[in-house]
Amino acid sequence: MRIYISADIEGVCGSTHWDECSKDKSDYSEFQKQMTAEVAAACKGAFAAGAKEIVVQDAHASARNMKHGDLPEGVKLIRGWAGNPKAMVQELDNSFDALMCIGYHSRAASSGNPLAHTMRGSYIDHIKINGEFASEFSLHGIYAATMEVPTILVSGDVALCDEVKMINDNITTVAVKEGVGDSTVNIHPKEAIQKIWQAAESALQGDLKQCLLPTSDQYNVEIRFKKHQQAYNASFFPGCELTDPQTITFTTKEFFEVLRMIQFVIK
Ligand SMILES: [Zn+2]
Repeated sequence: MRIYISADIEGVCGSTHWDECSKDKSDYSEFQKQMTAEVAAACKGAFAAGAKEIVVQDAHASARNMKHGDLPEGVKLIRGWAGNPKAMVQELDNSFDALMCIGYHSRAASSGNPLAHTMRGSYIDHIKINGEFASEFSLHGIYAATMEVPTILVSGDVALCDEVKMINDNITTVAVKEGVGDSTVNIHPKEAIQKIWQAAESALQGDLKQCLLPTSDQYNVEIRFKKHQQAYNASFFPGCELTDPQTITFTTKEFFEVLRMIQFVIK
């Protein structure tokens, strides 16, 4: 059994302010440790359930947050950004049995986390796919589903877990905090680690294929940018159309093309 884990920091237990997610700030090290501990817990749960190989992608900011030595032996860690449109699931392919998203967070244009955003907060007001708001979870989860890889576990804030359950109720979720305005209400960090460990182990004992995200024959994408200049620039990507000064639309039958477009229009 091969497992892919994509890890972010805005959805780990405790993280509340950008200073706690930024390498150059003194507040960061505590949450870097918590991110590593939550991912290590998911790895240990997966190994206990029979996983033979685990690939972890560090998928926050520089993508150089976690200490590899603090993850269990046998885990491969992807550090840095290759520049691949697969973004937060760079090496994911159909050889994997399941995807887990740890430390994930609420989407842009939601109030579920003080740090809510989708992909690049300074650019994107919101992304919609076929009329529904998209998150980093749904973007990567749908892409995984196009390769028949189910997303079996998601940890993060309460609103993200609600989104996951709305999309596919079979996916296991672990809510480690709840966003309230510019604050978070957190469970104890050690409790978060314990819950993620147990959830990873039990999720792998279920019917994994029930956890595929729904795919579609066609994807109608809308991106609303924060600035009209960003939308104007994005409108020159092949297939993108400017529908109002801050919004572009894009239609494709291949979900990878959605990720390719996003990668190029948020540069
Ligand atoms: Zn992040």
